[in-house]
Amino acid sequence: MLIHGLLVTSLVMSGAPAAGAKARVDCAKVTCLALTFDDGPGKHAGTLLDVLKREHVPATFFLMGKHVEELPKVVRRTMAEGHAIGNHTYSHPSLPTLLDQEIIDEIRLTQDAIQGVTGRRPRMFRPPYGHTDDRVLGLAGSQDLSQVLWTGTTLDWKLRDSAKIKATVLRLAKRNGVILMHDTVPQTVQAMPAIIKELKKRGYHLVTVPTLLGGRTPDAGVSFP
Ligand SMILES: [Zn+2]
Repeated sequence: MLIHGLLVTSLVMSGAPAAGAKARVDCAKVTCLALTFDDGPGKHAGTLLDVLKREHVPATFFLMGKHVEELPKVVRRTMAEGHAIGNHTYSHPSLPTLLDQEIIDEIRLTQDAIQGVTGRRPRMFRPPYGHTDDRVLGLAGSQDLSQVLWTGTTLDWKLRDSAKIKATVLRLAKRNGVILMHDTVPQTVQAMPAIIKELKKRGYHLVTVPTLLGGRTPDAGVSFP
């Protein structure tokens, strides 16, 4: 893992594309948008991964530790197919209400679960409900994690309607935006082919959050966007 990390760093620094890797999208030059999916992996994740694979769209998944333990194969597939993976806590509590040690436990259990399955420890963290404060951010930083929020939330869990979810994503889409959805909502997964088709038609390059940041993860303890 360390060797891999060093390799990636040196390639990024030299600007040379990795052998066999797809040419990296430069979001400074083209219009990028990151689709992100929280709370998984859920039972619709496989269907979503099929769609993303068919459409050649990399996405970012903020996974819950307890679901990672339930569906390790889906998590391995998510990583193998080029998606970015972040930490969304173990059991989805509102973190500011917890004690320091409880917050660290929620984060660490999830880091351990994801590392156990993929061999890699996430560098990105998204707090459940977006509930965060300086203390939560600092504790995430102490676990070598950056905090990733969003520019637009679809409230897909509330809409539960494919047409409305699609319309909301299109309304929220903007250059370098980060769209929050849930692969646990079946209507979101159902809407995804049409959403991707329309976003591409409008000129968006759909990328992971690290690609949006120029191929790097934001520094630990820093919040984005
Ligand atoms: Zn969530």
